[in-house]
Amino acid sequence: MTKIYTVLEILELSTDYLQKKGIESPRVNAELLLGDILNCKRLDLYLKFDQPLNEEELSKYRNYLSRRGNFEPYQYIIGKSEFYGRIFNVNKSVLIPRPETELLVEEVINYSKEKTNLEILDIGTGSGNIPITLALEIENSKITSIDISEEALKTAVTNSQLFNLNGSINFNRIDVLSNEIYLLQQKFDVIVSNPPYVSIGDYKIVQKEILEFEPKIAVTDNSDGFKFYKRIAQCGKELLKENGKIFCEIAKDQSEELLKIFKESNYINIEFVKDYQNIDRILIAEKS
Ligand code: GLN
Repeated sequence: MTKIYTVLEILELSTDYLQKKGIESPRVNAELLLGDILNCKRLDLYLKFDQPLNEEELSKYRNYLSRRGNFEPYQYIIGKSEFYGRIFNVNKSVLIPRPETELLVEEVINYSKEKTNLEILDIGTGSGNIPITLALEIENSKITSIDISEEALKTAVTNSQLFNLNGSINFNRIDVLSNEIYLLQQKFDVIVSNPPYVSIGDYKIVQKEILEFEPKIAVTDNSDGFKFYKRIAQCGKELLKENGKIFCEIAKDQSEELLKIFKESNYINIEFVKDYQNIDRILIAEKS
């Protein structure tokens, strides 16, 4: 007879396993994966400590654990990730939404309180976390989203349907670095973007989870980390309405150089918003 394991026993064993594999926060990871299988929140597992796992649950969990032990992010394993209090579908063709990006979205939401009927362009939509959150949080906003990746756009469209936004966000397959961007026959109040900003040098030393599993084109610009900001500064001049604003997430240590880049492109009121670690994280610049 196969041994029966309870939730508590399996959590202890799997925490140990993940720890030995060198996974950070092994207990939390074990709980997140098991919570998904048992269809409950991580902390609700504490009410189920004595519950035995059936064969099917066990074999699914074994598969999840071995994948996590190989450094696959738990969000790809369960196919979901939380952003701004909502659950989005994710897969290996999209970047996993990050908490820092919630700050970016928050800045745009704050700005929307000063204006009505905002027309917004989201560059590099990935899972669609930014446009979908903005569409749900800002009344009467009109959002266009672009991404170079067909697979990412499929995920974003699926996510938009999940939140009953069918057709209300205009998704387009466009490479921002190409002239296709000027095919957008519209001017915007806001350009928002969380572009690939890791330089090619830094990319080599990112965590294994990112290096081996997240899409490279979503993480690095294959250059000095500034390629997309320069492009956004350039095309923003065409695509923004007068006094339109750019909101971008940025990396640690990029603000000084970005101030120069946006000044040289004649943007005004350039400011940086800090994250909870006191790092300049969001760039805001206004078209003069
Ligand atoms: N807009 C998505 C996000 O912020 C994807 C960004 C990207 O792929 N660089 O998570």
